[in-house]
Amino acid sequence: MSRPNQARLDLAALRHNADLVRELAPNANRMAVVKANAYGHGAVTMARELEGRTDAMAVACLEEALELRESGIASPILLLEGVFEPDELKIAAEQQIWVTVDNAVQLEWLENARLSAPLQCWLKVDTGMHRLGAEAGQVAAFFQRLVDCPNSVGTPVLSTHFASADEIERDTTTRQLALFEQLTGDFRALRSAANSPGVLAWPASHYDWVRPGYMLWGNSPFGTAEQANAARLRPVMTLCSAVISVRDVAAGECVGYGGSWRAERPSRIATVTIGYGDGYPRTASNGTPVLVNGQRAPLAGRVSMDMITVDVTDLDPVQIGDPVILWGDGLPVAEVAEPAGTIGYELLTRMPPRTPRVVVTA
Ligand SMILES: *Cc1c(COP(=O)(O)O)cnc(C)c1O
Repeated sequence: MSRPNQARLDLAALRHNADLVRELAPNANRMAVVKANAYGHGAVTMARELEGRTDAMAVACLEEALELRESGIASPILLLEGVFEPDELKIAAEQQIWVTVDNAVQLEWLENARLSAPLQCWLKVDTGMHRLGAEAGQVAAFFQRLVDCPNSVGTPVLSTHFASADEIERDTTTRQLALFEQLTGDFRALRSAANSPGVLAWPASHYDWVRPGYMLWGNSPFGTAEQANAARLRPVMTLCSAVISVRDVAAGECVGYGGSWRAERPSRIATVTIGYGDGYPRTASNGTPVLVNGQRAPLAGRVSMDMITVDVTDLDPVQIGDPVILWGDGLPVAEVAEPAGTIGYELLTRMPPRTPRVVVTA
C-alpha cells in the first residue's frame, strides 16, 4: 500500500460548474480555459468531461493544444498567447487550432505564412492590463489587415483581458469595459472579455464569448470574500491525506523544523503525511485550517517536504489512519492560500505529479 495522498477529482462538480457558466451567461458562447494542465487537474480528463458542455477550449501554447488533439478532443482550441514562432502557424492550421494575434510581429507572421487552411483569429486588444494586445491606435488597422489576410478566416473575434475583475469594489473593470467599447464598438465582430470573475460578477462583460477557467474547478476567484454566484460553485479537487502519528507534547515544547510553533498548553499533535513535495504550500502559517475527521484544526509548525503537524487538542480523539482534507470539499482552497500568502490558482496549478489524481465518479 502506498501513501494515502490523493487529489480527488469530482466530475459531477465540474459539470455543475460548467452548467453554472451557461446559466449566468446564457447568450454567450463558452470557452473553457484548460491551460496549465487544467490548472493542475489534468487537461485531458477535464477537457473530455467539458466537451459538449462548452463551445471551445483555450490553452497557453501549441503543446497544450496538441496534447488535447492527440487525446481526441475535437472542439476548437484557442492559443491565448498566439504562436511563439511562425512555423507553429502551419501546425495550428492543420489541427484547426485558433490563434490570438497580439502584436505586429504575430500579424506579419500570419500575413507571410503559407498555410494548408486559413485560421480563425482572435485579435487581442489592450484595455489596461498592459501585458498583451494591440494598443488603442493599432486596433482598427490590425483588424482591417486580418479581414484582408487570406490566412485569416471570417471575421476576427475581438478580445480583451481584465486586470482586476476579482476586486468588485474597484472601478478598473468598468474603465476597461468602456475602453473596449470605444475601441471595438464600431466593428461588426464577435467580442470576448469575461474570465471567471467576469462571468460571475460582471454581466456587462459577457459579450459573445466567455472564457472561464478557475471557476470551472469550483473555486471562487474572489478568494474568501463573499460573492453570491461564486457561493454556488462546487470544488472539483479535494486534496486528501491521513494521520500517520499522534503524540502528546508538554506545554513549552516546540514542534517541527525551527521550532516555529510552541505549545502554550499540554497539546495533542497529529502528523499528516503530506508536505510541500506533495503540493501543500510550505509558506502556510501556523493556524492554517486543516480538516481532520471532518473537523477543523490549526496547522502547528512548519510544513515539511512530506509531512505537516496539526494541533488536534480540541478535537474528538484522533487516531492513526484518520482521514485528512487539506482543501476542497468542506475547506475552500482560498482559506489555505491566504495564510500561505498566495491564491488558490497557484496551489491548484502547481500540484506535482507525485500526488495522484483520482477521478471519483458519482
Ligand atoms: C487564464 C485566462 C483566462 C481564464 O481566467 P480565469 O480567471 O481562470 O477564469 C481567460 N482569458 C485569458 C486571456 C487568460 O489568460
